[in-house]
Amino acid sequence: MKTKHSLGTKLNPTKPIAYTLLRELADGQFHSGTDLAQKAGISRASVWNAVEQIEAMGLLVYRIRGRGYRLAESLLMLDREKIGRLLGEHSPFGVIFLDEVESTNTFLLEQAQQRAPHATVVVAEWQRGGRGRLNRTWYAKPCGSLTFSLLWRFNQGAGALSGLSLAVGLALVRALQAFGLPEVGLKWPNDVLWRGQKIAGILIEMQGEAFGPSAVVIGVGVNVSLDTTIKALINQPSADLSILAAEAAVDRNELLACLLTQLNIVLIDFEKFGFLALKQEWQRWHWYQDKRVRMTLPSGEVNTGWARGVDDSGALILEIDQKLKSYHSGDVSLRAEEVSS
Ligand code: ATP
Repeated sequence: MKTKHSLGTKLNPTKPIAYTLLRELADGQFHSGTDLAQKAGISRASVWNAVEQIEAMGLLVYRIRGRGYRLAESLLMLDREKIGRLLGEHSPFGVIFLDEVESTNTFLLEQAQQRAPHATVVVAEWQRGGRGRLNRTWYAKPCGSLTFSLLWRFNQGAGALSGLSLAVGLALVRALQAFGLPEVGLKWPNDVLWRGQKIAGILIEMQGEAFGPSAVVIGVGVNVSLDTTIKALINQPSADLSILAAEAAVDRNELLACLLTQLNIVLIDFEKFGFLALKQEWQRWHWYQDKRVRMTLPSGEVNTGWARGVDDSGALILEIDQKLKSYHSGDVSLRAEEVSS
């Protein structure tokens, strides 16, 4: 059966009714058109239209005469109560749930301008047009990726926040490890890897004055279960958490709670002590420590050398011709250097 994929395109937003139906179909069982129509309070024709929309999201729906509709794969949808329970009543986080959004970062930056409180979180079932650095695309699967943004208000200004993106990477690694993922690592400045393949990405955007205070929006995307269509769009080796889910789907609610808990701990430490307090631990997870790497600068110039860890501000240190050189994150791009034997 063919699916119509609207990934990465600027098509019309999915209608809310499609998400209502998706919640009914999420169990992966057959549901008759009549049942669905009754539960959603719509006509059979509207059910048919909503199923079309679900297919346009890239999800496969089986339609069998006499039995109704069934999703090819069951889904674990986001669950407001469950996340609330997992975070506990003393949690600092105020979570906004969205069915779909172009970019959780863009949405939260707008909220921040309208005085959204510290520790506001925006999480979406589907982030349709996620961004990486330099407006590169972050691909996400509807209900199969965890995409969220966190607003953190610092007293300090942007100038005092060097190393923040590394600190956030460290929080993700701690959380994914606690979640049971083995062989995790960090690629400078802040990609999270599994066996050297990118499993999570971070995009940090700031508002504020150089000397503070500043509002920082931390966008996180974790691949939970990518399909081949999405994997084919990603122009570097990627991985997802399906290795953890031989029997049951990964629960994005548990994952979100785990990530937010670690982000809270790490960001408080970062605020008090700066990156220096986290540097040793960051380096322990550094996937390319003492390996050959290739650094591409904004000018297009390429430098190759040995990755020798990071300095107290989070700059990467490369050893090139026996001299140490540091690189600040920005528009530089790091890759493993293929060594021919
Ligand atoms: P570079 O190392 O070249 O700077 P990056 O990986 O740090 O790249 P980001 O801007 O952080 O770049 O992220 C965007 C890039 O991530 C995309 O260009 C693509 O290669 C990759 N990407 C996009 N979606 C995913 C995904 N779901 N999983 C893994 N990688 C992805």
